[in-house]
Amino acid sequence: KEELNIIQGALELRTKTVEDVLTPLSDCFMLASDALLDFNTMSEVMQSGYTRIPVYENMRSNIVDILFVKDLAFVDPDDCTPLKTITRFYRHPMHCVFNDTKLDAMLEEFKKGKSHLAIVQRVNNEGEGDPFYEVMGIVTLEDVIEEIIKSEILDE
Ligand code: ADP
Repeated sequence: KEELNIIQGALELRTKTVEDVLTPLSDCFMLASDALLDFNTMSEVMQSGYTRIPVYENMRSNIVDILFVKDLAFVDPDDCTPLKTITRFYRHPMHCVFNDTKLDAMLEEFKKGKSHLAIVQRVNNEGEGDPFYEVMGIVTLEDVIEEIIKSEILDE
């Protein structure tokens, strides 16, 4: 029965999109680009439990960087290092995809190994003004795998 589930999950990768499985922007744990890496901020990062943290400028929909928790290994909270110092040093590439990207294509992208987290954007052409790109949320390899095995992966 479990195998059947997995086969069905794998078949559905061709029809489902990243929009179906993403973590919405409002649920994302993120940091503002002008944050200081003081004791408070670093504790919040640790308590969030996430490995990758999007960094935004001015508003949450404007993601400009990704911080990896391992980037903090040499950071002393007493120094109150500006977050920008760290993100400028590591410069992890940001990977953006459109909301209609199918999960099989997303899985292939993740397999290439650049990053296992992608930022999902869509073209917003509602309203009066010109269409613009709008960030909807983030998707990770784990979100795709959960779709295949059809069950939640509980975090360590
Ligand atoms: P982690 O290694 O940080 O636990 P995973 O890639 O295993 O992240 O993803 C686990 C789940 O957490 C996924 O549903 C993913 O969309 C979500 N997720 C990953 N990073 C964040 C974040 N910074 N804020 C909110 N949710 C996140």
